[in-house]
Amino acid sequence: MKWVSHIAIAGAVCVVFNPAAVPAAVLGSTAPDWFEWVLSAMQRRRVKHRGITHYLAAWLIVAAAGHFVWDWNGWLFWFAMGGAIHWICDALTVSGAPLGWWSDRRMTLFGGKVQTGRPSEYIVTIVVLVICAAVVWVTRSHGNGGPFVPFFYDWAGFYRAGLVSAHEWRANRFNLF
Ligand SMILES: [Zn+2]
Repeated sequence: MKWVSHIAIAGAVCVVFNPAAVPAAVLGSTAPDWFEWVLSAMQRRRVKHRGITHYLAAWLIVAAAGHFVWDWNGWLFWFAMGGAIHWICDALTVSGAPLGWWSDRRMTLFGGKVQTGRPSEYIVTIVVLVICAAVVWVTRSHGNGGPFVPFFYDWAGFYRAGLVSAHEWRANRFNLF
């Protein structure tokens, strides 16, 4: 996919969850490609396109490290999520993207029907933008200001709203799902 699509998709997804981390997500959304230039310059030979810098597993490990080990305002996590989203976008295309270092085989998602630079790429981009914009619009208009995350229940919010008792809140406050 073209960078404009990578940036738009990662930026839009990040806005839904953590608007302050969008610069990190945007940087990460193109990182698998510009890491290839950095590596090529360092090794003085061309790095294979959609190779080592496009391992989904590596991006997910960095994201997990950002989430569980160390991060700065979610930037490491979202930088890595940008890379992972880049992988998803590339995997939607005909040539696919590799899962990890154990296999050179590239994987495609949904049959790899997207063609870079063709209408199919822009349709995917626009659909993601519309969905993200709708989610942001719905959550903002509900007035709580926080991100709407369908699979993370806001137990504290339920408690304040009187929907659950203090006991239920205490029992569930560490339940993320
Ligand atoms: Zn790429």
